[in-house]
Amino acid sequence: MKIDLRSDTVTKPSEGMLKAMMNAKVGDDVYKEDETVNELEARVAKLFGKSHAMFFPSGTMANQTAIKLHTNPGDQVICDKYAHIYNYEGGGASFNSGVSCKLIDGERGMFTAKQVEEAINLPDFYHSPLTTLVEIENTTNKGGGACWDFNELKKIKKVCTSNNLGFHLDGARLWNALMVKKETALDYGELFDTISVCFSKGLGCPIGSVLVGDEHLMKNAIRIRKILGGGMRQVGFLAAAGLYALDHNLEALVEDHKKAREIASVLKKTSYVEKVEQVETNIVIFKLNNKYDDQMFLDLLEKKDIHISNMGQRKLRIVTHLDYTSSMHETVLNELNSL
Ligand SMILES: *Cc1c(COP(=O)(O)O)cnc(C)c1O
Repeated sequence: MKIDLRSDTVTKPSEGMLKAMMNAKVGDDVYKEDETVNELEARVAKLFGKSHAMFFPSGTMANQTAIKLHTNPGDQVICDKYAHIYNYEGGGASFNSGVSCKLIDGERGMFTAKQVEEAINLPDFYHSPLTTLVEIENTTNKGGGACWDFNELKKIKKVCTSNNLGFHLDGARLWNALMVKKETALDYGELFDTISVCFSKGLGCPIGSVLVGDEHLMKNAIRIRKILGGGMRQVGFLAAAGLYALDHNLEALVEDHKKAREIASVLKKTSYVEKVEQVETNIVIFKLNNKYDDQMFLDLLEKKDIHISNMGQRKLRIVTHLDYTSSMHETVLNELNSL
């Protein structure tokens, strides 16, 4: 039995989800006539207390659209050195928006309001790029699924407001943070100008992200999505998966988190692990001690048909998800214990 813990994107739609998809009422979404897409957008907009939401084929495209909405070519975006928009979107920030990133040296992908203040280029100092956007990620991907402290986010919002900066949240795994911290989507909607959320991660959908924001920013989003090639036709079949996930798969994230914690506690007791990063959600990042080679370790696991990710420098990543069953979990705990 193959056990795939490389990412929470490897899930396949469940029977219930497939049924919902097959029964979706669809139309041409480029004409805004797909009622299932319209329903998902209205529902997510309301969830976050924003006037507008837009369905995207990927989280990358939703983030790239947000960056474009907030900036002009030559501007600078403040984000963490671990940020997905900086590391894993193919250089899209510079390719699509012509902006550079000012990287903050944060902790597990998170930083403070003071660090943001220090990273802002003074607007009158025309030698430097103009800072126009602050971007954060919750939970942090490369930071190991860490959740931000909401009070720090409020302080960063204040810095954004007083410096006239946009505030974008890459919430690919915001659902996980909401479950852990008992926060609401509305809390986040109040703080951020734009938020992207993924349906194809923990929520178990095959495809789909949504970007939310208010009218003044979002009125241009449909054009940018079109330019990026993200105008899709009868895409309600995919939006139906998102609606299904909101109804059925949010609570299951708690189970992913529990399994991740259990994996971490087994890893901590083994001799081959030097350090396990703090586990808050569904991501476990750990470092092998220097007697072990990461590729050798991965090969060993792969022989047992357990697949995890290599992050380089002896750091490895395990991500739990909806298709990772309790019996798979038992196997993994036993194997990690006896390696
Ligand atoms: C997965 C992810 C995205 C979006 O990725 P896509 O593969 O384009 O959907 C964006 N941000 C973070 C932090 C992610 O983990």
